Amino acid sequence: MVARRAVRTVAWCAVIAGSVTIGCSDEAVRERAGRHAAPAAPSAPVAPSAPAAAAAASASAPAVLAGIHPPSPGSLRVPVAGIDASMLRDNYEQARGAQRHEALDIPAPRGTPVVAAADGRVVKLFNSKPGGLTVYQFDPTERYAYYYAHLDRYADGLKEGAWLKRGDPVGTVGSTGNASADAPHLHFAVFVLGAERQWWKGTPLNPYPLIVGQR
Ligand SMILES: [Zn+2]
Repeated sequence: MVARRAVRTVAWCAVIAGSVTIGCSDEAVRERAGRHAAPAAPSAPVAPSAPAAAAAASASAPAVLAGIHPPSPGSLRVPVAGIDASMLRDNYEQARGAQRHEALDIPAPRGTPVVAAADGRVVKLFNSKPGGLTVYQFDPTERYAYYYAHLDRYADGLKEGAWLKRGDPVGTVGSTGNASADAPHLHFAVFVLGAERQWWKGTPLNPYPLIVGQR
């Protein structure tokens, strides 16, 4: 049910106590996204109640997706330096609390360079409680967003509006936000933007096949 996922926003991660399993939970609803977005985007409309937002997004999602062609399988590069696509594990469908993960976790040592998965403009640098240091990048058509979370630091000189080429530095792997300090990783998400191109909101796509290609 694509429409049901339309109101998901950025996701966050944590490690299950006593386990090496990396866990991430999507923030459930736009209500929460609105709260996060408010300080950085004061002109954003106040989110309606969660049920109203969900209903509106569900109704609009098919139209938003119609005619949009996702990045082709295998077209994105692994957004962590030194990690081969064969090393990735698809954890998009994994449960994170009551939610699906809807992102790709890439474990790597703290400080490992995070690089752009594809060309596109940096639209937002955002420090959120769950995601920590995050980067939102739009693809050149501004139909898609790439989301990089739990960064230890941003790349030198990175700023909103900057154009990144595929492979350009974004920052470094870390555990900011609510990720566990002993399991640094990049939480990488791809989502289809709505008509209003709001950086904090979209319909998630599984990044794994977009990086690895068809299985
Ligand atoms: Zn994650």
